[in-house]
Order: sequence, then structure tokens, then C-alpha cells
Amino acid sequence: MNDAEILVVEDDVNMQRLLASQLTTRGYSVRIAGSGGEALKYAQDGLPEMILLDIGLPDMDGIEVCRRLRALYSVPIIMVTASDTPQTKVSALEIGGDDYLTKPFHMGELIARIRAVLRRVSAAKEQASDQVYSWDLIKMDLDKREVLRDNVPLHLTKIEFELLKALVKNRDRAMTYEQLLLAVWGPGNTDVRPVHVHICNLRRKLEPGLTSPRRILAIPGVGYRFRGPQDD
Ligand code: CA
Repeated sequence: MNDAEILVVEDDVNMQRLLASQLTTRGYSVRIAGSGGEALKYAQDGLPEMILLDIGLPDMDGIEVCRRLRALYSVPIIMVTASDTPQTKVSALEIGGDDYLTKPFHMGELIARIRAVLRRVSAAKEQASDQVYSWDLIKMDLDKREVLRDNVPLHLTKIEFELLKALVKNRDRAMTYEQLLLAVWGPGNTDVRPVHVHICNLRRKLEPGLTSPRRILAIPGVGYRFRGPQDD
């Protein structure tokens, strides 16, 4: 799985050198973009396996670069932020960053995150081809619109099915309330209470008898995340 190409978007020359040497040592091939504009151009030339994107860039901020990339491509993106405020994290995840890291970070941690994201993407690709997801005793078939628990059909409402589908398709990634509302209820809905209610019902159906949820995890103030079985 090495020899994946990583596009490093970073304007600091010392940081560029450090990242390039650390990543190539580990078998990744690295391309460096020093600005947001350059990053967008390189992505257009040919998509890398992953983008490591600094938020503080000279021409436009990394959040904007991520937004533009996301509008066109599904390439995995790890955001690197200099600030650790919850707002930055939320924005980074909300606009589709797969993960984020706060400067200064430990090189070992960066490598671990890169590997985790690449692993998740390749697992997701495999599963996306047949539209069947399974975890614990559950099997969810998106084409058949069927959810089985221990081979017995579970009766999910349409909303519950769509919620679960949105979470499972984005597993191991935070889904904000806004994203869930948009995916399930459509545009213009802002009341988050139904999300909590339906999640609660879903948990009861999927994980009966569990006092603390194992798969559908709450991220207070942000939304929910489905923890995939490969994360166990
Ligand atoms: Ca910077």
C-alpha cells in the first residue's frame, strides 16, 4: 500500500523538506504544492492517493481549498491546522476533511493517520462496489434496502434506513447534524431534535440491550459517527 502518492500542500519551506523526506523514507511518493492555487492545479493534472493540506496558506485558506477539491473529487484529505479551536476542527470536518492534525505534531502520529485514512479508503472502495455492509450481526444491503440482524430482517422506518445509510457510507468520519439533516430530510431543515430521536430508535433496533452505544457514537455539539468494524 506504500508507493501511494501524497500531495503535500504547505507553504513553509522547512516543513516541506521535513515532510518530503519523512514520507519518501516510508515509501510514499510526494509532490509539493506551495499554495492553494498550485494544489488545485496539481489535483487537476492527476489525483494523488491523498492530500495533506495545511490550513494557513498564502493565497487562500486551506478550508477553501478543501471545499473546492471536495466539490470535484473524493480524494482523501488530512487537514493540518495551527489552531486547536473546536471551530476549526468542526469546519475542517464539515467541509469534508477526512481527518485533521494540529501543529506541532509528532511525525509518527502523522504517518499513523495517513495509513489509517488510506486503509479506510481502500476498505470503503471494496465495499462500495457491492453496496453491502456488515458489522457485528448486522448486514445492510443498500440495493435491496434490507437490514438483517442475525439473518432476521429488521424493520427500519424510511428515515431510520436513510440515517443509517448516511452514517455507514461515511463510517469512521464525523457526520455533522447539518450533513445528516441534508442527507435524510433534505435542504431547509434545521431542527436537530428528530436526528437524536431517530438515532436513539436506530440504536435500540441495532444494538438491543446495550447501555452504551458501540457503533453509532455521539460527537457532542457536532453530530454522529459510525464506528466501522475495522476500527475495533
Ligand atoms: Ca502554512
